[in-house]
Amino acid sequence: MRAEYRGTLIVGAGAAGLNCALHLPAGEDVLVICKGGLKESDSFLAQGGICVLRDAGDEAGYFEDTMRAGHYENDPETVRCMIAHSRETIDELISLGVRFARDEEGALAYTREGAHSRPRIVFHADCTGREITSRLLRVAQKRTNVELRPYTAMVDLLFGVHGECVGAAVRDRHSGEVSLVYAGNTVLATGGVGGLFAHSTNYRILTGDGVGAALAHGVATQHLDYVQFHPTTLYTRGRGRRFLISESVRGEGAQLLNAAGERFVDELLPRDVVTAAIREQMRREGSDHVRLDLRTVRGGKRTLEEHFPGIVRRCRKEGYDVFSQPVPVVPAQHYFMGGVKSDLSGRTNAPHLYAVGETCCNGVHGRNRLASNSLLEALIFARRAAQDIAAGSRARGGASWDHTQQEIDAMLKARRKRVKEETHHEGE
Ligand SMILES: Cc1cc2nc3c(=O)[nH]c(=O)nc-3n(C[C@H](O)[C@H](O)[C@H](O)COP(=O)(O)OP(=O)(O)OC[C@H]3O[C@@H](n4cnc5c(N)ncnc54)[C@H](O)[C@@H]3O)c2cc1C
Repeated sequence: MRAEYRGTLIVGAGAAGLNCALHLPAGEDVLVICKGGLKESDSFLAQGGICVLRDAGDEAGYFEDTMRAGHYENDPETVRCMIAHSRETIDELISLGVRFARDEEGALAYTREGAHSRPRIVFHADCTGREITSRLLRVAQKRTNVELRPYTAMVDLLFGVHGECVGAAVRDRHSGEVSLVYAGNTVLATGGVGGLFAHSTNYRILTGDGVGAALAHGVATQHLDYVQFHPTTLYTRGRGRRFLISESVRGEGAQLLNAAGERFVDELLPRDVVTAAIREQMRREGSDHVRLDLRTVRGGKRTLEEHFPGIVRRCRKEGYDVFSQPVPVVPAQHYFMGGVKSDLSGRTNAPHLYAVGETCCNGVHGRNRLASNSLLEALIFARRAAQDIAAGSRARGGASWDHTQQEIDAMLKARRKRVKEETHHEGE
């Protein structure tokens, strides 16, 4: 079987994987693989925006909003870390060329989504994820130490005798060939689990592969049942990816209506609460959707056209004119709060194995994610993982890869033996 040796292997090319690659030292040999095309990641789909601490006076409010949305199951230290690094993360994106909406004075414009006590989300029309991730991708493509390899799926993780991760087995999705990538450090950035659900806003290729591989090898995971449903996706018949109608539409004044045209819930409550209210309404009416009226958005037609052009276009394509009628909406799977257990530097309990982005569970979201915290979380903790990898490489005096071919073969042989023994014991 073909084998190659890399400094760091990053599995996933969304915002988390790319930002990790960009923060590794220029001397580190980095391979980023992804299951589909380079632009087929949920990071490209993010509509609403990305949170940021507006000013020092917002610290307590931002913390409280995140904790309340997460039912106070969040890890307070992780939440504080995310908030503390939010401003520098936005500044860094701007320095890379990411464009965010501005007010008349040229200052950053802020919007609001459910469960936020004040507007603190920066955005680029209704395609913030594409604006951020395409820029990260372009910068990564220019890095000489970073190789991006699309249509390459991780099929398993590889471990050494001491339980350390030594890379992954990968499959070329065009040729079907399986090969081994040995790496000094491996980063799981495989995104969410939406592909496992009949109705989800996620790309269908996102099937929790990082979590699956971790589970198979006894790497710690947590809260695998913490799945977020988005209250408002455009109701269409058939299976497949659901089109999201961003929460910031409700933040700007859109109203949820029942069949009689009446409001039945405060639209800005946390997602899980609004989703439950919609489900209850559907149950009472015996219907398969409720309605979202965008005509009440503040600023009317102008706001809709300037802030939400993608949503207006997509609704029109499905036969709904948002300027003259409510659109049918239904909740769908949207985000995964659980995942591979990781610390503030993305470290898992397996040496040399990191997990970042939606694949990981570092406790920042608790039981329910606050809207627009995920891109921020993905970027910050991916950068911290890169810094941790770089520090480890420096401590070892150079590249992070330090095994010879013979050592790797010995590790794999020993591991196979151990797995065989364990299986034998279980059988008894
Ligand atoms: C419609 C939509 C709107 C959203 N809006 C917002 C928003 O406004 N604000 C916000 O903060 N968040 C939003 N989110 C959530 C946010 O986009 C994601 O949580 C975040 O982008 C996840 O980033 P990631 O890098 O962890 O994963 P992703 O961007 O999903 O990337 C996962 C990567 O892993 C790769 N991969 C998966 N399995 C394998 C495998 N076996 N082998 C190799 N590669 C693999 C994929 O190919 C992909 O490249 C939204 C999500 C959706 C779906």
